[in-house]
Amino acid sequence: MINPNLEIAQVGKRILRQQAQSVTDITDKKLQQLIDTLLTIAIEANGVGIAAPQLSQSYRLFVVCSHPNPRYPDAPLMKPTIMINPRLLSHSQEIVKGWEGCLSVPGVRGLVPRYRTIKVEYLDRYGNLHQQELANFVARIFQHELDHLNGILFIDRVENQEDLVPSDLSK
Ligand code: ZN
Repeated sequence: MINPNLEIAQVGKRILRQQAQSVTDITDKKLQQLIDTLLTIAIEANGVGIAAPQLSQSYRLFVVCSHPNPRYPDAPLMKPTIMINPRLLSHSQEIVKGWEGCLSVPGVRGLVPRYRTIKVEYLDRYGNLHQQELANFVARIFQHELDHLNGILFIDRVENQEDLVPSDLSK
């Protein structure tokens, strides 16, 4: 069993603030191992997403794995999905605020504005290109994880101090 506390880069680490590099060789054995590790940690930490820079690997890939949780009881249950070189193609004008936390920022939750619906594209672990429309909680996860690839944390997007609270108070 992987202990996520030992594996996951915490806020303050430089790698969380860097622009991650695009994946050029999806068949690379080390990259495929990284994908397996991301999937394992996402499941074991019961997270809804995790990005490679959180494992101190500066590559453009993350896992999205929405499941119902106390803050989003209606969140869809989905198979953990690896998204490589993800891109945001377009987005709704509508922006909604919702609570977010992060395995790299323990102890706090924030009310973060995100686009309600987005159109995205990404490669899967076999190199196939996917285009998808995402909405609501899943769109939120994608935007949170994409931020990780650009060195941005959710605490950067919180609009005022009242929207950032200890995680036990935001439930
Ligand atoms: Zn995060």
